[in-house]
Amino acid sequence: MQRYFARLDYGLVILEEDDLFHLHQVMRLKVGDEIEVVIKNKLYLTKILSIKPSEIKIIKELDDSSEPNHHVTLMFSPLKGQKTELVLQKATELGVSEIILVVSQRTIVRYEQKDIAKKLIRYQKIIKEASEQSKRLTIPKIKYYCDFDKALNITADLKLIANEELVGPTNSFNELIVHLKKDQKIALLIGPEDGFTKEEVVLAYNQSFLGISLGQRILRAETAALYALSVIINKLEYK
Ligand code: SAH
Repeated sequence: MQRYFARLDYGLVILEEDDLFHLHQVMRLKVGDEIEVVIKNKLYLTKILSIKPSEIKIIKELDDSSEPNHHVTLMFSPLKGQKTELVLQKATELGVSEIILVVSQRTIVRYEQKDIAKKLIRYQKIIKEASEQSKRLTIPKIKYYCDFDKALNITADLKLIANEELVGPTNSFNELIVHLKKDQKIALLIGPEDGFTKEEVVLAYNQSFLGISLGQRILRAETAALYALSVIINKLEYK
């Protein structure tokens, strides 16, 4: 069943314009069809009563305990082409809680100040759609930091930096995540296409980031982000 994020306004279920378009034009849903709607992190079964104007009625609240209680923040550098959007979409599917785009010394793609708000609106839309598609109850947050130090100051129980200089066996990564508790806050920092400078790695270590190897090969930044995130979330969701 299709799922949408909505809000409640005077008892009426309000969907955003693009969701209404998707519902009618893409999914071809009609009056009488049922959809799942998430309002304030709660899931409801609803029925479409009218298309134009849109009228959607709540039938009942549904049980959904799929949203993890772990908190994983992925920090990575804006990447070339469609790769930033790819990582946002896939990280959302994988269960990330928060994404911070971080500019570091070797970041190639840099947004001008005047474009940042517009970019973030587009990225929020991608994250919301990926949350609907993967049937999440929360939409991960997205932020943009032009200041690398700000990213290093993040508070988390475990702060990891994927350091390509450590390329080799993944022992340290495994040892660090083996004792993870399910409700711990984890921050993961991935470098840009050209990697981190030595100075940045030292700064990160000084801010209690721990360096990890992601294996025997040098991965592209987008692969590194999604691989590391998958491994961490696999561990957190293991029962
Ligand atoms: N151009 C650099 C590689 C950068 S890879 C070089 O040739 O050395 C982009 C980012 O992915 C890195 O900054 C790091 O965060 C991560 N990464 C890729 N492969 C990795 C590995 N084997 N171990 C740890 N981090 C890795």
